[in-house]
Amino acid sequence: MYLEVRQNSKEDPATKQKQNIMRLFITTIIILTSLFTFGQNKQVEELGNIYMSGDFDKTILKANEFLKDDPNNIDYKLLLGRALTDKGDFNSAIPYLDYTVNNDPDNSWRKAWALGYLGTCHFMLQDYDNSKKSTKECFDLNATKNATQYAYKRILLFGFDDFYKDWKIVESDNFRFYFQNMSDSDIENIFSSREIVFKNINEFFESELPKKIDFFVWNSRDDAKKLFGANLGFSDPNFFIVHSHFQQTKGHEMTHVISNYSTKMVMKTGLINEGTSVCFDQTSQDKEQIVKDWIKDNGNKVEIKEIWNNWKGYPEELTYPLSGLFVKELIDNFGKEKFIEFFGNQTYDNAKLVFGEKLEKVIKDFENKINT
Ligand SMILES: [Zn+2]
Repeated sequence: MYLEVRQNSKEDPATKQKQNIMRLFITTIIILTSLFTFGQNKQVEELGNIYMSGDFDKTILKANEFLKDDPNNIDYKLLLGRALTDKGDFNSAIPYLDYTVNNDPDNSWRKAWALGYLGTCHFMLQDYDNSKKSTKECFDLNATKNATQYAYKRILLFGFDDFYKDWKIVESDNFRFYFQNMSDSDIENIFSSREIVFKNINEFFESELPKKIDFFVWNSRDDAKKLFGANLGFSDPNFFIVHSHFQQTKGHEMTHVISNYSTKMVMKTGLINEGTSVCFDQTSQDKEQIVKDWIKDNGNKVEIKEIWNNWKGYPEELTYPLSGLFVKELIDNFGKEKFIEFFGNQTYDNAKLVFGEKLEKVIKDFENKINT
């Protein structure tokens, strides 16, 4: 979330001119005028502060209230459009953002942010042409560092960079695939298998996704690393996006997206979130053997609560298979409904709350099984 600080020097020139003329007249009018201007700035500042605090409901309420007295104010419109976007109400946000784009005579940071947010709204509504157009215009405007970065991140993530221009795009029921340099038979294979995997995974989560998953299938890990500076694969559930190498597991990244919409997400932890994706990755690898081998090679026993709280303190070759096994244990013991109830807040404390006293015994038994 970004918001530029309002610059006094960017004050509307018409207001300034008006003030100058007024100054030629009576002192009381000068005072009244400055009071009026001060009042305006103060309300924009107030609204900006509410928005930056992350209270989008209040931003929407206040912006609508302020717009009643000043219906053409582009600061109010911009903040209202951004708050609606952040709330996920993309259709309602677009008119306010459009208004800002069309009524900012200075091509300022206001227009840049409105364009950037329009790019996000159109993407979420699967209007890819307008999303690309707005996002690129935001980037080309180069009005402010943060807005330009916001646009650039999306140009890469959404597949708008020229790098993707030769990729083949194919849509299925639940996916929009982007293939990097792959044969027709490989494309056909991935196209049909991923739909089956989607149905398998979602039989458990029963998520209703408001848009298709944008699924980028990379042929070259090095290319992805060069473009993103990060290793494949990764997903961004907020945008329903997966970037994955064609040889990676069929289900892992997809599960991150699907599971994210199974309940209201409050708090994620590595053990549960990665564990869930490993559990549903649709591979047949013997995870228990991998974990046991690691314990034998390294000579230290695993302790679930310790890893729950200190996920990054252990190597992935242990934590990933271990977490997948542990999540399976939770589902086997407590059932799907309880697991999804718990999944929104993945902390140990919430697990105790949802699963009750039996949790301790499940953890103990699991540790005994793994550590011997
Ligand atoms: Zn993952």
